[in-house]
Amino acid sequence: EVVCVTGASGYIASWLVKLLLHRGYTVRATVRDPSDPKKTEHLRTLDGAGERLHLFKADLLEEGSFDDVIDGCAGVFHTASPFYLSVTDPQAELIDPAVKGTLNVLKSCAKASSVKRVIVTSSMVAVEQNGRPKNPDVVVDETWFSIPEFCEKSKLWYPLSKTLAEEAAWKFSKENGIDIVTINPGMVIGPLLQPILNTSSATILNLINGSKTFPNASVRWVNVKDVALAHILAYEVPSASGRYCLVERVAHYSEVVEIIRDLYPSIELPEKCADDKPYAPIYQVSKERAKSLGVNFSPLETSIKETIESLRDKADPKRTKHL
Ligand code: NDP
Repeated sequence: EVVCVTGASGYIASWLVKLLLHRGYTVRATVRDPSDPKKTEHLRTLDGAGERLHLFKADLLEEGSFDDVIDGCAGVFHTASPFYLSVTDPQAELIDPAVKGTLNVLKSCAKASSVKRVIVTSSMVAVEQNGRPKNPDVVVDETWFSIPEFCEKSKLWYPLSKTLAEEAAWKFSKENGIDIVTINPGMVIGPLLQPILNTSSATILNLINGSKTFPNASVRWVNVKDVALAHILAYEVPSASGRYCLVERVAHYSEVVEIIRDLYPSIELPEKCADDKPYAPIYQVSKERAKSLGVNFSPLETSIKETIESLRDKADPKRTKHL
């Protein structure tokens, strides 16, 4: 079976391509620059890549860019979207590629009679940015939707880009009769296949690389291998539909620091919180729908260990020599 993965060089997508090849799929992978070895070498060397991986050039902002690669595919995994937290022009750097890119990909899917289902990588930031108070008894689930005006007021530009992109995806798919499923992961950590440090892995690298303080934030952590598998299950399980939140555990950075201390007692870690305010509350995220799909979540401790081991070569050797 032939499937397409957009943004294939990225952190999550690289694992997705690896697992798809392992399951026997033929994968058409899009990247912006197929000639850049930093973006493609780790894909070309995956098991099965020689026979069943085909790289294509495509850009989210180019109308019709995905037509040729998608035509002939039974499944499309749309993962490409910029994930940066500091930007100077949110509209151009985040919102346009996220929203126009999603519509661009879905338009190509609508034209291709071969496409049976499209899996769209959304995010927990498109689920829970709505200003509702959080506490340990609150359970966030797939019925929650982030509110664009709330994101805008709070200058949460990346969440705004993902919220608008998911909204656009549902609207377009309903109007055009496309079967889509969204995957809504929390902060994704775990081993890196790609050489370029991505935003979510950097959250762990910052803690072990000399930062004096940890952020006052509670984060929804999930392992990259579970996220990649969930994409495939959402495609393969006929009854899959709607959205799937993927979060193993919500934990404050202070807890993450303690987990790292237990794993690697000799690493120097940030001693205090970045502010004196009460710790941001933790809360729960429902696992019911993810489990119904067949996802078994790796524990946070395992994910943190895998991330740090994988980041060894990117860490400051003076600080991490005892790893
Ligand atoms: P990466 O930064 O590792 O990868 C992002 C990918 O998007 C890259 O492959 C990049 O392609 C592609 N991309 C960005 N802009 C464009 C563009 N204009 N045209 C074509 N491709 C583009 O990110 P992640 O793996 O972390 O994220 C992948 C997806 O998962 C995104 O949709 C993100 O929003 C979502 N997500 C990520 C989470 C996380 O914690 N990591 C959590 C929840 C959702 P290129 O290589 O060509 O530059």
